[in-house]
Amino acid sequence: MINLEVVEEIITIDGPTSSGKNSVGFLLAKKLGYIYIDTGMIYRAGAFKILQTGISLDDKEKILEIYKNLDVRFEMNRGWKMFLDGEDVTEALHTPEISEVTSKVSAIAEVRTIMKGIQRKLANGGIVMGGRDIGSEIFPESKHKFFLTASVEVRVKRRFEQLQKKDPAVKYEDVLASMMERDKRDSQREASPMRVPKGAVIIDNSNLTIEQTVDQMLKHINA
Ligand code: C5P
Repeated sequence: MINLEVVEEIITIDGPTSSGKNSVGFLLAKKLGYIYIDTGMIYRAGAFKILQTGISLDDKEKILEIYKNLDVRFEMNRGWKMFLDGEDVTEALHTPEISEVTSKVSAIAEVRTIMKGIQRKLANGGIVMGGRDIGSEIFPESKHKFFLTASVEVRVKRRFEQLQKKDPAVKYEDVLASMMERDKRDSQREASPMRVPKGAVIIDNSNLTIEQTVDQMLKHINA
């Protein structure tokens, strides 16, 4: 059982791709003096290693080994950063190839069980945790759960602009197609699919800034 005092200090944020979880989660955590944990980045770290080592996506045993041995650490001081095996991988894990592999391996039930252990262990003091099943599966006892969303147009625009900074040749249609496919896979998989957690506050931030979204969340938290 989780210590209830600790659960009070866990704020969960779930939502689809580019719904603003990370920007909002980081700012919210900063304002509260908490740590922000982007669980998508931990799933991505495993996919990165799978691609690096050339393991087949059918080799479940080796995939599970990779997830069991992940060594990740987070930093909040100079902007949000994640370290994998001691190296800063914050900028390296958002390629379309890693996104694709991440979405596929995160549907494996045993990967999710390993990840559940990793995520629960990270709940040490005040944290804001963002992902797809944080309020529904990882910390259902949490007092403050949010589900962020935004229109498809707004989400694709955000993702497109983010990817375009790294690769000016990226195509809008490709970003749209891959986002739709990823969201579909994430919400239709059998093992802890993305859904609105019971008791979560839903915020559509299509027309809100990051600050405005955080302000709305703080109102709920302080209510
Ligand atoms: O949030 P982000 O887009 O970086 O997540 C990458 C992928 O990781 C998602 O498409 C999803 O398949 C998976 N994921 C998940 N559960 C989480 C976080 C991410 O299945 N809690």
